[in-house]
Amino acid sequence: MTDTTSTPGASAHGETGGVSPGMAAWIAAGEEQRRAEAARRAEMRRMRFDTIAVHGLYGMEAALANQGSIIEPVFLSPAQHFADSDHMEAALAYLMPSWTYSRIANPTLHYLEETLALLETYDTEVEASACVTSSGMSAVFMATNPFLAADESLRTPNIVAMAKCYGGTFMLFSRRYAVERGIEVRWVRDPLDLDEWASRIDGQTRFVYGEMPTNPGVAVFDIPAVAELAHSNGVPLIVDPTVATPALLRPLALGADVVVHSMSKAMGGSGLAIAGALIARREIPSRVGPDELREDFATHVKLLPFRDHGPALSPFSAFMVLSDLRTLRSRIDQWSKGAEIAARFLSEHPAVEAVTYPGLPSHPGHDIARRDLWLVDGDDAGRPVNRYAHLLSFDVRGGASAARKALDGLRLIWRATDLGRIKSVATIPAISTHQQQGAEGRELAGIPANRIRLSIGGEHPDDLIADLDRALRGAEPGR
Ligand SMILES: *Cc1c(COP(=O)(O)O)cnc(C)c1O
Repeated sequence: MTDTTSTPGASAHGETGGVSPGMAAWIAAGEEQRRAEAARRAEMRRMRFDTIAVHGLYGMEAALANQGSIIEPVFLSPAQHFADSDHMEAALAYLMPSWTYSRIANPTLHYLEETLALLETYDTEVEASACVTSSGMSAVFMATNPFLAADESLRTPNIVAMAKCYGGTFMLFSRRYAVERGIEVRWVRDPLDLDEWASRIDGQTRFVYGEMPTNPGVAVFDIPAVAELAHSNGVPLIVDPTVATPALLRPLALGADVVVHSMSKAMGGSGLAIAGALIARREIPSRVGPDELREDFATHVKLLPFRDHGPALSPFSAFMVLSDLRTLRSRIDQWSKGAEIAARFLSEHPAVEAVTYPGLPSHPGHDIARRDLWLVDGDDAGRPVNRYAHLLSFDVRGGASAARKALDGLRLIWRATDLGRIKSVATIPAISTHQQQGAEGRELAGIPANRIRLSIGGEHPDDLIADLDRALRGAEPGR
């Protein structure tokens, strides 16, 4: 038997008709495994962020059950072998920890899910579960779609979301949900305006959605205040903190109900996998769905809708992300410091019209960013320190053509629609990530044609600044 528990809390879904003595023995063994995992979880919750990121749920007992491997093994097998028919029956009735088939669960994915749940609830009393998915977009889909279930008494569903969200999310909401399924999308244009959020939410709202900070605009919003608005209307707040990562922001601690991540970005910063995750607290509000959805949303999603939609993450990709997560805090610290240096340099550059970075006092949401974005566990001496993540954007003087010229002049910073990478990358959102939503959609999301999005990685800031400076001087109008 493996040491893994891939279907925690599954008893609510289990069928208990006719438990044979053979099955009962397996169920008892499963209970023992659950207790051992719960004890390990409690032990890890007392450790610091870096320690959790390095070890997660995989301890010495787990290693000894895996030939002593210090590193979590990658289970590429699509299916689990069962000792006998009693074992098989107990496992498939969700009566004991098991993984059965990799579309549903897998030991490698389980270790990643447990690490994520621990990191997102770090230093809080919040209980959470996680479900990893094949991409950030499938995480956004799996975190939102269950709230859109048909309901006779709620015939005209709407959703309330920040207009400045990620381009893929904008397309999911505005095309797939609004155009194809008739769900009204109520965009919040100014995420700092609480009255605007409040005016959009009503008795037909299914969920409220925000990004913090946004990609590419690095806009921020007041998570505790918007969570209160959502909760007073009986609906969940879903937050995408992909840009911040749990090293800087843990929205569940601020009142959010569900967190979605693209782990293709900074969490998997080496750039070796596309991956996503949703992490949810216990007992969330929802107007629709069964009790299990409210009690433990991530587990409910994993056992039912996720199983049926099928956006399973490859165990190999999960392993790549798990390996990167171990160094999350120190990487985010380094990249954030580099981004701050780049932001200050660009703010003073004659070829730059404007710089948008939450760490600059000129950013309209700087006060909220300073209140909510902290490097977990502080600086090297343990003192609290703000960090504002790796992403910034700047508008090049001279319009769209000057921005293209500046982008084309880069020789070290890669031209790619990518971010959160150990290698710095730059793109022009209007011709890449936000091309498909058209001029009107870009206007709604506040994305001008001369904007360059810059994601700072692990290079020395001096070399990055030299590259930016040379590219921008080449782009100055009239030269
Ligand atoms: C990239 C990104 C996504 C989508 O993630 P994929 O892994 O590319 O599917 C969602 N939200 C944000 C903020 C992102 O940057």
